[in-house]
Formats: sequence, structure tokens, C-alpha cells
Amino acid sequence: MNKQDQHSRMSYLYQASMLLGTQTDELGLARQYASTIRSISQKNVLRVHPHIKRTICKRCDTPFVYGKTCRVSYEISSAKKPELDRVLRTCAVCGATKRFSDRPAKKRTKQGQVAQAELNVEQQHTK
Ligand SMILES: [Zn+2]
Repeated sequence: MNKQDQHSRMSYLYQASMLLGTQTDELGLARQYASTIRSISQKNVLRVHPHIKRTICKRCDTPFVYGKTCRVSYEISSAKKPELDRVLRTCAVCGATKRFSDRPAKKRTKQGQVAQAELNVEQQHTK
């Protein structure tokens, strides 16, 4: 399998995992799928997209479904430094917490450029 196939596989597993997380109370299979995403990325040295990575518990692989398996709160540091504010995600299953920056990072623009480059490559293939 090439890298594109592995990305498709991870995407499919992520969607299946989130669907199971939202529609059923049995999270075993959803966790198994999320765990498989991690092992695929490690075996093939592929990066998991930050959006996907941030919606799966790092400790127990539970997909974060807001209001069900995940609690979200905000940490306000001070009014003078709003750039230090953090979003705190707590796993409702194992209690693991993770802090994320509230603001878009500079890295995201770089990934946007990469996504644009991939789009151009796809357009070339279709021509
Ligand atoms: Zn957890």
C-alpha cells in the first residue's frame, strides 16, 4: 500500500470511529479504530492531521464527542495576554486533559500551503 492508500484508510477509520462514538454507547470498537489510526501512522511514518489528532484521546484512544466523551473548558490567563489563553479538553472516560492554543498557529498557514500544493498536483493529474 502506498502513502495515499494509508491516508485514505486512516480517514475512513477516523470517520467510522467518530460515527460509532456519536451513535452508540459501546466505545470499544470506536477505540479500536482510533488505535489502528495511531499504529498505521507509526508504522508508515505518516503524520496524523492535527484536527484528527486533537479529537482522539491520547491516553485511551476514545474519540472525543463533545458533551459525551469530552468536556471542553477555557483557561483565561490574563486580559493583557489573550494569546496565552488555552482550550482544555478533558476525556470523560479516562480523565486525561490536554491544552490547546485558542489561536491559529503559524504552522497552520504552512499546512494550508502544502494542501494547496497537493491540490495543484491533483489538478495536473486530472488534466
Ligand atoms: Zn481518555
